[in-house]
Amino acid sequence: MEENFRASMMPAYEEFIKILSASFAENSSAGWNLWRMEIALLKAVKAMAVRALVLLIELTQGTGYSGARRRCSGCEGPMKFEGYRKRQLLSSFGLINYERAYYYCGVCRQGWMPLDEQLELSGRAVTPRLQRVIGYLAGHLSFGVVAQTLEELQQIEVNREVVRQVAEASGEQALAWERVEEASYRQRELQPARRTPKTWIIECDGKHVGFQDGRWQEVKVGVIYELQSRAESSPGRHELLKREIVARRCSAAEFAGPFWSAMQRAGVQDGDRIVAVADGAEAMEQIFALVAPEATRVRDFYHVAEKIHAVGEVRFGGGSKECQAWTTAQLHKLSESQLSAVLKSIAHLKLSTAEAVQTRQQVLRYLTKNRYAMDYARYEQAGWPRGSGAVEGGCRLIGARTNGCGRRWGEPGCDAIVALRVAVLNARLDLLLPKPKSRLPRAA
Ligand SMILES: [Zn+2]
Repeated sequence: MEENFRASMMPAYEEFIKILSASFAENSSAGWNLWRMEIALLKAVKAMAVRALVLLIELTQGTGYSGARRRCSGCEGPMKFEGYRKRQLLSSFGLINYERAYYYCGVCRQGWMPLDEQLELSGRAVTPRLQRVIGYLAGHLSFGVVAQTLEELQQIEVNREVVRQVAEASGEQALAWERVEEASYRQRELQPARRTPKTWIIECDGKHVGFQDGRWQEVKVGVIYELQSRAESSPGRHELLKREIVARRCSAAEFAGPFWSAMQRAGVQDGDRIVAVADGAEAMEQIFALVAPEATRVRDFYHVAEKIHAVGEVRFGGGSKECQAWTTAQLHKLSESQLSAVLKSIAHLKLSTAEAVQTRQQVLRYLTKNRYAMDYARYEQAGWPRGSGAVEGGCRLIGARTNGCGRRWGEPGCDAIVALRVAVLNARLDLLLPKPKSRLPRAA
């Protein structure tokens, strides 16, 4: 067995030696150094791998030929063998060329190449492995940079447009996976309660993304994590060891679907405590009301602090010592859950302009309306976060892929890449790429 295998793979090995010795001859006058050696080896390994890949296809799958006629899956009639057709694919080692049997049904006017199906190839001209690499990279980097990265790392040339097509197809797959999950979780209740309930933090925000028509649209972003996975990496600094990110360009009501399934995926069960942190924006509250109506609400402390600071500015002047002293005193009271005292201080300020009075009224209205979510001393004691830093981080992660460098999207492209980004950030690419599919029987 091993002998036979060795013999069949020998041409690949010979290719390796041939390319390497050519490099050796080329470089021997210029002098070898480690840089040249590694480059020469990469070239030889790639040439060997390209050859070996084709040999392995032949060895394991054949050419897809199974006699002069076979049954057409369309009309059940006979399909005729018409010869061999070439196919070229870009693999992570470079271009591979091979031939496979071609059958044709005159009734259906349909050609068929069984080997393509055996190899689980899509219509794209890249191998599943390269598709996965492109999908992963494009979840992090722009299409142009993905092409450059492949050139730099593997010395293979992939057109930016091919990168875009492959990445979007992967993103569409990710989105389809999300939708299947949503549909299945919609039917399901939460998992039954466990003995010791867990505490989950859910956060929500939005990220504006630019579109080709000049408009900006909001991509909703949510982060779900268990309180336990929030670790203090240095005093006052927290790090999430594990979290589920969810993002979608949609309305608040629609976002409840992906958010709910992400909560279930994260592991939220019946009877668990849920703490919902956000800045109080209407849309985010709407989402929380749908996915966790019973959740304890927390207003982002820093958002509240900004509002209080704005009052200090209109009274004492921005940047003044008095402004700073007054604001610091109010924020101290705020973190001690003495909101009544804060409200009183604000109400008693002597203001000289109508504009200042208006600012005060707005802030007082906000604080009064949201005071039920500002019991910061209690949150502190429970070890809950008082800010929505996790979802702000989530928004930055989404924005790092969708925004900047004047990037402008079409809607399907944006949706696909956001889904791909989420799949990569949640380390879920294994479930998606290569597309899981039932194994087909081997060729005889
Ligand atoms: Zn047919």
